Amino acid sequence: MKPLPAFLAAAKDLLGPKGWTDDPEKRLAASTPWRGSYQGDTPFIARPASTAEAAALVKLCVQHNIAITPQGGNTGLVDGGTPHGEVCVSMTRMTAVREVDPFNNSMTIEAGATLVSAQETADAANRLFPLSLGSQGTATLGGLISTNAGGVAVLRYGMMRDLILGLEVVLPSGEIWDGLSGLRKNNTGYDLKHLFAGAEGTLGLITAATFKLFPKVQRATAWVIVATAEDVVKLLALVRDHAGDSVTSFEIIPANAVAMVAADIPGTRDPLPANAEWRVLVEISQPRAEQAEALLTSALEAGAEAGLVQDAAIAASDTQAKSFWHIRETIPLSKRAYGTALNQDISVPISRIPAFIKACNAAVRAIVPLAEFVIFGHVGDGNLHYSVVEPAGSGDRVLKAHEAAVTHCVFETVTAFGGSISAEHGVGRLKRDELARLRPPAATEAMRAIKKALDPQNIMNPGRVISV
Ligand SMILES: Cc1cc2nc3c(=O)[nH]c(=O)nc-3n(C[C@H](O)[C@H](O)[C@H](O)COP(=O)(O)OP(=O)(O)OC[C@H]3O[C@@H](n4cnc5c(N)ncnc54)[C@H](O)[C@@H]3O)c2cc1C
Repeated sequence: MKPLPAFLAAAKDLLGPKGWTDDPEKRLAASTPWRGSYQGDTPFIARPASTAEAAALVKLCVQHNIAITPQGGNTGLVDGGTPHGEVCVSMTRMTAVREVDPFNNSMTIEAGATLVSAQETADAANRLFPLSLGSQGTATLGGLISTNAGGVAVLRYGMMRDLILGLEVVLPSGEIWDGLSGLRKNNTGYDLKHLFAGAEGTLGLITAATFKLFPKVQRATAWVIVATAEDVVKLLALVRDHAGDSVTSFEIIPANAVAMVAADIPGTRDPLPANAEWRVLVEISQPRAEQAEALLTSALEAGAEAGLVQDAAIAASDTQAKSFWHIRETIPLSKRAYGTALNQDISVPISRIPAFIKACNAAVRAIVPLAEFVIFGHVGDGNLHYSVVEPAGSGDRVLKAHEAAVTHCVFETVTAFGGSISAEHGVGRLKRDELARLRPPAATEAMRAIKKALDPQNIMNPGRVISV
C-alpha cells in the first residue's frame, strides 16, 4: 500500500522535522532484519516523541487507511517488526523513565527504551529488573512486551507477561488506553494488558509500561559437564529440590556448540574441556553471594553423588561468570558462520526433552541422513533452540533443498510431544500459517474476532500472528 501524498504531508506536519525520515538508507535498515534472511521495505519512518503524537499519527492512519508496522530495536526473529510496505512507526524516541517507586517495587518507562536501560534504571534504585536476554542492548521494552520475550531468567521470574503491572496503549482507533498501574491486585474484569503482551503490534501501539521490580540478588554460576539429556533433566529436578526457587537459570549447551564458538569468536575458549555431549550453565541467586555459592556447591555435590555431574566449575569471579555466559550467548552468532541452519524455537514438557531430541533427530535424519544438530537453550523452561545445520562439506545445498520437509517434520514431532512451535520468539509472518494449521480452530477464530473488533480496518501490523 503506497501512502498518499496527503497522508505524508499531514504526518510530516504532525511529527515535525525530527519525527520522520524517508532517507533511503534508514528505510533499508528498518526493513532488514537482524538475521538478514529476507528483505522488507517501507516508504516512510514515523518517529513519534510522545503518546499524544503517536495517537494523532494512528488517527491519521485510520483516516487515510494506511497500514503501520510498530518497530522497536528490530531484533525480533519471526518477521514481525520488519515492514513489508507498511509505514514503519519507530518507537525509539520514546525512552523516558516516568516513575520509579522502590517501595511499591515498580517502575514506569516508555516503550522505546532498551532493556539494558531498564535494568540500569532499576539498579540505580537498588532494585532488580530481571528480564535478561542476548539482544538486551538493542531490544526495546515495547518489542519485548509485544513478543512476550523470555530469556535466561524465566525459571525464576517468568516471561515478560509476568513482569508487567500496567500498560499504556494507542489502540488501532487512535484512542489512548491508559492502563498504567502499579497494582498487584486488581480484579476488575478482563485483564486487558495480557491481550497486548504477545500481540506483536497487531492490536495497538504500546507507548509505556509499569513493571515489577525485585530485590537485588547475588548470583553464583557454574559450568557443568553432563553425559546425557536424561541426566540434564534429572539434574534440573535435583538442583531445584535442593535450591528451590533460587535456581534462576538452567541452560543446556551441546559440546559441538562450544567448539563452534571457540573456533569462531576470538577470545573464547572451552572452560572445561571434556568428551561428554552436554554442558549445563546453572545460576542460583540469593540475597548474599556466599549463600548463593553455598547452595550451588551443595546442589552440585548432590548431583555428583547421584552420578549426574561429571565435572563442574563454579565461577570464581564476575568476569569468569560472564565468560561462561558469553559462550552461551554467542552460539546464535557463531552458528550463522556455518552456512545454512534451520533454526526453531520450540518447547516441550521438560520431562519429554530427552525423548523429543532422540525422536526429532531421527526423523530429520530420515530426510537428510548427514544432518547435524545444534540444540541449546532454556532447558529449565522446556525451551530448546533446535537447529539443524548443514552436513559438513556440502556447502549450502543439502538443507536448502529439504528446508520445507525438515521444518514440517520438526513441527510435527514437536506437536506429537505436546509442545509449542514458538516458545518465546513469537509468530510474526514466519509461523502464522503453520500455527493456523496446528492450533485448535476455536482458538484461531477467537483471536480473529478480537483482532477484527479492535482493528476493523486491519491497519495494525497486518498479516502478523493471524490473517483476517
Ligand atoms: C542475539 C539475539 C538473542 C535473542 N534472545 C532472545 C531470548 O533469549 N528470548 C527471547 O524471547 N527473544 C530473544 N530474541 C528475540 C528478540 O530480541 C525479541 O523478540 C525482542 O523482544 C524484540 O524486541 P525489539 O524491540 O527488537 O522488537 P522488534 O523486533 O522491533 O519488534 C518485535 C515485534 O514487536 C512489535 N513491536 C515493537 N515495538 C512495539 C510497540 N511499542 N508496540 C506494539 N508493538 C511493538 C513489532 O511490530 C514486532 O511484531 C533474541 C534476538 C537476538 C537478535
